[in-house]
Amino acid sequence: MPRKDQPLSSRLAVYPGSFDPITNGHVELIYRGLEVFDRLVVAVAHNPRKTPLFTTEERVTMIREALPARSGLEVDTFEGLLVDYARRRKARVILRGLRAVADFEYELQMANMNKKIVPAVETLFMMTGEGYFFLSSQSVREVATFGGPLDDLVPANVVRALRAKLGDGPAPKR
Ligand code: ADP
Repeated sequence: MPRKDQPLSSRLAVYPGSFDPITNGHVELIYRGLEVFDRLVVAVAHNPRKTPLFTTEERVTMIREALPARSGLEVDTFEGLLVDYARRRKARVILRGLRAVADFEYELQMANMNKKIVPAVETLFMMTGEGYFFLSSQSVREVATFGGPLDDLVPANVVRALRAKLGDGPAPKR
């Protein structure tokens, strides 16, 4: 067990989220994060009060399948306060992605709250990669529900998982 007063590592970042499911926007951000930090932990939030489309285990498996094994990359789950998890992992940085302006207020609020709870942990933002600005897990779930095209939105294994869970969409009206 690391000692409680051991310093946090600036080389390690935690990238938290629901990842319900992981999208190409997440994947791009993870690769860019790995260029900046020596180690990146993709941390899947397990929230018993929410009912995600995919279970925590399914979300973790999809992320592992979508990302080729790479040194410095880890996929984990967490429950409870994110800053507690970051501190436990000795991570100095929480990495978040920023898309359109709509993300800003929510992210600002969360970053401020986290800073209040554990001042030593910094939230850093990376702008969404070009082409992924309007991509969210929610929009992917909606497109999948209606049988729309998913190939440019999520990794191939996620397309298969979505089709298996939701089918091919409603039958066309006659
Ligand atoms: P949460 O429920 O915590 O917002 P998400 O899985 O939706 O979890 O997102 C996890 C992180 O990835 C967030 O920081 C979010 O802003 C970021 N993100 C989501 N979609 C994209 C995208 N298309 N491009 C880059 N970052 C994204």
